[in-house]
Amino acid sequence: MIDADVSAVLDQLVPILRQAQHVVVLTGAGISAESGLPTFRDPLTGLWAQYRPEELGTPQAFRTNPQLVTEWFAWRRELVQAAAPNAGHLALVALEQHVPHLTLVTQNVDGLHQRAGSTGVLELHGNLARFKCFEDNQPVTEWSTNADGLACCPRCGGLVRPDVVWFGENLPKHELSTALAATVQSDLFFSIGTSGNVEPAASLPGYALDRGATVVVNNLDVLTSATPPLYRLHGQAGSILPELVRRAWPDA
Ligand code: NAD
Repeated sequence: MIDADVSAVLDQLVPILRQAQHVVVLTGAGISAESGLPTFRDPLTGLWAQYRPEELGTPQAFRTNPQLVTEWFAWRRELVQAAAPNAGHLALVALEQHVPHLTLVTQNVDGLHQRAGSTGVLELHGNLARFKCFEDNQPVTEWSTNADGLACCPRCGGLVRPDVVWFGENLPKHELSTALAATVQSDLFFSIGTSGNVEPAASLPGYALDRGATVVVNNLDVLTSATPPLYRLHGQAGSILPELVRRAWPDA
């Protein structure tokens, strides 16, 4: 269901999208919300209701209580495995097929863009399905368990942790530099389902605007407005993105 004000902004965006040469899409937890994955804004439920993500996703938390942190990530991994890509993810796959060049940058660690069929996804915050050693930071694919039942690195015996970027950690260099380069070269930049609170991803839309790109922000926090070159769309990505693609390429 598309609101009348969103519909009017989508009509303005159609010619811009059809002419765009290099589109960059930055996504956050909101694009996976319609797949049933909670964002960090949603309160944790059940067992996890007493914690905040910032307390669990840190090196300090892992050092203090590796069992707790390991269990929290195992719970998130189970949610992801049970989830499926939604219409928002699929619309970005279609968009990739229509525009000359698209770079998809995600802060999500769920791998749903890849499962939908997007290619070359730049994962700024890693992926829940991968693991690495807490001590030597190298990928781990097989492990043994210690007396506490925790997975240990086969090389050095260090504890095995998820290969995701925790609060206070650096982003992967290649992904970040490629995302920055694409952003400053883009003529159309989408920010989808991200609250823009986590740096450095939060700065990307501003860099795109500074370089003269059109920027479209879609989440549930903004009010719908069109103040070119900045457009804001309030609503669910799983409705808005497919509608935009349908209007831009009605015969496809
Ligand atoms: P966030 O939780 O801070 O913000 C979510 C944003 O999505 C909000 O702006 C909200 O209005 C919007 N939103 C919610 N439902 C939406 C929908 N259906 N359509 C469009 N927008 C919607 O998330 P963030 O900005 O990505 O940043 C927080 C961190 O959370 C990131 O580092 C990310 O790695 C991590 N995270 C990832 C996942 C995942 O991989 N699925 C889930 C939770 C958190």
